[in-house]
Amino acid sequence: MDKRLERILPRVQKPARYTGGEYNQIIKDKSAVELRLAFCFPDTYEIGMSNLGMSILYHTMNSLDFVWCERVFAPWGDMYEEMKKAGLPLYALESGDPVGDFDVLAFSIGYEMAYTTVLDMLDMAGLPLRTADRAELLPLVFAGGTAAVNAEPMAPFIDLFIIGEGEEVNNELLVLLRQAKKENWDKRAFLTAAARIEGVYVPSLYEVSYQPDGSIAAVTPTEGAPARVTKRIINDFDSAPFPLNPIVPSTEVVHDRVNLELFRGCVRGCRFCQAGHVYRPIRAKKPETLIRQGIETLKNTGHEDVTLRLVRRTAGLLRGAEHRPVPAVSAGGQLLHGDHGAAAEGP
Ligand code: SF4
Repeated sequence: MDKRLERILPRVQKPARYTGGEYNQIIKDKSAVELRLAFCFPDTYEIGMSNLGMSILYHTMNSLDFVWCERVFAPWGDMYEEMKKAGLPLYALESGDPVGDFDVLAFSIGYEMAYTTVLDMLDMAGLPLRTADRAELLPLVFAGGTAAVNAEPMAPFIDLFIIGEGEEVNNELLVLLRQAKKENWDKRAFLTAAARIEGVYVPSLYEVSYQPDGSIAAVTPTEGAPARVTKRIINDFDSAPFPLNPIVPSTEVVHDRVNLELFRGCVRGCRFCQAGHVYRPIRAKKPETLIRQGIETLKNTGHEDVTLRLVRRTAGLLRGAEHRPVPAVSAGGQLLHGDHGAAAEGP
């Protein structure tokens, strides 16, 4: 552990947020991997470690043997001040290495209020904020998550956006980046090739012209970028990768239990609901899949509770109760209760 960090930790609230070393974290040999990826969550440890999307993508990206994906969370105010005073840069929890030395910074942006924290984390990593000021291919900065669907406010700062669900497209992008790094592509060549992957939006490949009144006249794609970026979705949701050995936090987090994802999407279409639209169409897991995943994950973590999650967010329990597989999952919950002393509950 960095000596500066050792000195700081006794002075901040909840130091376990900043140490890593949790059960089930993934450690790889950094000299043996080809890409080091800092998976950055622009909120506190407790929020990020409760985010099922982050847990899923941490495991899918680490399933590539040439990638080591590590976690990075935004420090709370007291830690932020101490790190600034000590000159300690933003670091990844698994290795403790500075994020600025990584090949990739991947941000998961779930809500617009996190935009400024993304900028703060780039600054703490010692990187220029604007993509135009980062001329080299590496480190590449990309972002996904629900708030990335409305990408324009962050377009000056992020090299490319993942639109939609990341399980498949993230890994396709990393395969391409591995090739680009090996063959010394420049950043423009990589971004042009990346824009051809379905679900990837590269803002710098679009020219925007304006009317005299300041409204947009035209958005013109260049270098073969698609005129319309299509969001990626997982078609076979029942077989989608799901972490059966998620990291067990060493301190209390918001969802301190096993999280099972019943389904994605929602048929209701409430106008105000971002997640309800972004995760369309509705796709469900089979009850037997959920029961198997629940039992396995309980065994691998030691948790005693299971949460049944909907639409990648904590939608209402009533809404979940309207979903047909719930009675079967509830039966699974009873099974879990019988075998493992676990309790199933709604979000
Ligand atoms: S998740 Fe809830 S708020 Fe969103 S569309 Fe569905 S019912 Fe409406």
